[in-house]
Amino acid sequence: MDNDARDGLRQHYEAVLSRLEKGLGMAGRKREEVLLLAVSKFQPADAVAALAAMGQMDFGENYVQEGLEKRHELDNADLTLASKLRWHMIGHVQSRKASQTAGNFCLIHTLDSVKLASAMEKHLCQVDAVQKVLIEVNVGDEDQKTGLAREDLHALADHVQSSCPHLSLQGLMCIPPVYDAGEEARPYFALLRKLCEELRTYTGLALPELSMGMSGDFEWAIAEGATIVRVGTDIFGPRPHK
Ligand SMILES: *Cc1c(COP(=O)(O)O)cnc(C)c1O
Repeated sequence: MDNDARDGLRQHYEAVLSRLEKGLGMAGRKREEVLLLAVSKFQPADAVAALAAMGQMDFGENYVQEGLEKRHELDNADLTLASKLRWHMIGHVQSRKASQTAGNFCLIHTLDSVKLASAMEKHLCQVDAVQKVLIEVNVGDEDQKTGLAREDLHALADHVQSSCPHLSLQGLMCIPPVYDAGEEARPYFALLRKLCEELRTYTGLALPELSMGMSGDFEWAIAEGATIVRVGTDIFGPRPHK
């Protein structure tokens, strides 16, 4: 990454950090209540390294293979820096990829079926590890979208609580049906918060995390209680094509 690219990245990153501060101020919330996740899908390892050198330690990846390869590259380039990074899985995980995914991320945001939970549990049991997870909810009731239907939320939580001792349920995640639409996404964030409150009562679990908000709408997610916002484009610029 050359100096111009690095300066551009720094400017983008600082603009996102100041939007974050402003959003927190408007919501009367503190900086430590919200984690900024830099979404690095399709971005090269050197862009991740450059952002990490600016102090960003939490990164989100959508594809298991790509994420693991990038981490390997970063380990080889600078193991000291790489060992400080925290990686999140934010993309859809197929059950046949469960064993590559479970145990390899600090948080998996996209648990969306009993089948996937069982596949992860089986692997985690073998390697004797506990994996923190969020359930992804299809808040727009969209046909083609990944994420669990709202009405199946209790059944999946029941399954995790009764049969998956190696999965630690931390909260909910959503991708609203409107993209880059600012305030229009807010009702979906409010819905996810409400679903999480209900699930807390139902399960008796603390469920502290709400992962919601992207480049075009994260201030509105913060206003509705997001604890993790996932920002790609506004930090890294447009994604290179794969
Ligand atoms: C790509 C992606 C993001 C980041 O989107 P931007 O609009 O680039 O900020 C956030 N969350 C998920 C699940 C994504 O796939």
